[in-house]
Amino acid sequence: MTHYSRREFLRKTGGIALLSAWGLPLGATTSTKTKGRVIVIGGGYGGAITAKYIRLADPGIQVTLIERDKHFISCPLSNEILSGEPDIESLTFGYDGLRQHGVQVIHAEARTIDPVKKTVITADQKILPYDKLVVSPGVDFQWDAIENYTPEVADTQMPHAWQAGPQTLLLRQQLVNMADGGLVCITAPPNPFRCPPGPYERAAQIAHYLRRHKPKSKVLILDSKYAFSKKALFTHGWQVHYGDMIEWVPGAEDGRIEEIDPENGVLIGDVDEFKADVANVIPPQKAGAIAFTAGLTDESGWCPINQRTFESSLHQNIYVIGDACIAGEMPKSGYAANSQGKVCAAAIVAELNGMDSPEPSYVNTCYSIIAPGHGISVADVYRFEENQITSVPGAGGLSSLGASKRDQELEVGYAYGWLKNITSDMFG
Ligand code: FAD
Repeated sequence: MTHYSRREFLRKTGGIALLSAWGLPLGATTSTKTKGRVIVIGGGYGGAITAKYIRLADPGIQVTLIERDKHFISCPLSNEILSGEPDIESLTFGYDGLRQHGVQVIHAEARTIDPVKKTVITADQKILPYDKLVVSPGVDFQWDAIENYTPEVADTQMPHAWQAGPQTLLLRQQLVNMADGGLVCITAPPNPFRCPPGPYERAAQIAHYLRRHKPKSKVLILDSKYAFSKKALFTHGWQVHYGDMIEWVPGAEDGRIEEIDPENGVLIGDVDEFKADVANVIPPQKAGAIAFTAGLTDESGWCPINQRTFESSLHQNIYVIGDACIAGEMPKSGYAANSQGKVCAAAIVAELNGMDSPEPSYVNTCYSIIAPGHGISVADVYRFEENQITSVPGAGGLSSLGASKRDQELEVGYAYGWLKNITSDMFG
């Protein structure tokens, strides 16, 4: 674990520029008097970073993180578990690093929020008061969208594996148990959903395993959509590495699955039925459950916010970040959640110091590994314009279709480096 002095850390992250941009003299922020109580719900890609950066920017603010699990398992790079590459321990992180930054970590389920009394009530009936509340619960699933697809079916027969953990391991085991010549079906959800390139990277990682161990098998992607992220790069990569092993069935050609028969492994669309040996059903998504019980969602199932500060449009002093919020043109990704967490932390620190929130800028990069030595990426920079987060033209880009082998290899290295850096940023 790397430890920086506070000044060194702020210099590395641009924090000194941020603090001075708010007009906060650095010495003034080292006061031990409590300027406010911030609670963060959810210690994943969005919440962990917000809790840490508020403490880094102003140790005078008391920060409590409420996270239900003792360990966090990263979804980024979890598709690789399906090909048998990393083990799940390498993607598992604890919260001691955050405690060292003075964040009080409580492992509990946040059950309700009272926006009037400004309290969070946990499942074990603790009542915790806040001045500012950050909610970063990730996604939940629309369990009524696919007939017969229930949490029990997902846990035991047709895993979604869209929250890394036991279901990822179940899916891996099902692939290992499958006979050569078997059919793996992945259902890809409609927009918006967590990690737009994820199902297509998953198909590649599964094919990577099958090509080596069960080469007569096939991967069918049954998609609700007509297009998907980095499509040209994925289809090119699939063809180069796996020939015809991966087939994509778009919504227009009955890729949309409406019902399942879990006992017989059947996925049912409007016209066709697909008999799968392994079925990875990734259902349509919505904001994490606490966002609904707290009245933070609108009719879309996601949380409307002021996209400059991430404060809820529905409740004052509550901020929603990460997958659960509606963040303009930003995708639902771990890197986006990290970037939003930093903007939100800056806005909260400024407000608790009686200042205006600084001008935000946001960033996202998503790497996907198609095969060993072949990575691709999409990158974007965003700004706040006309009340919403918009992509800055020309500031990002996609990997080139004609990238050299060396560049493809470098992208794999960048993907691993990205995970190492972002998880040290969160938990170090
Ligand atoms: P999360 O990271 O899921 O954190 C939510 C946390 O809140 C969890 O720890 C949960 O336990 C906790 N929680 C929820 N409700 C409560 C409650 N009521 N009380 C207490 N705790 C609660 N993104 C990338 O940037 N790059 C990638 O390469 C990438 N690959 C991916 C691959 C896959 C297969 C998948 C599924 C996703 C991938 N993502 C990737 C997306 C990324 O995982 C999410 O966008 C990111 O995790 C969102 O962060 P979050 O804070 O919103 O939610």
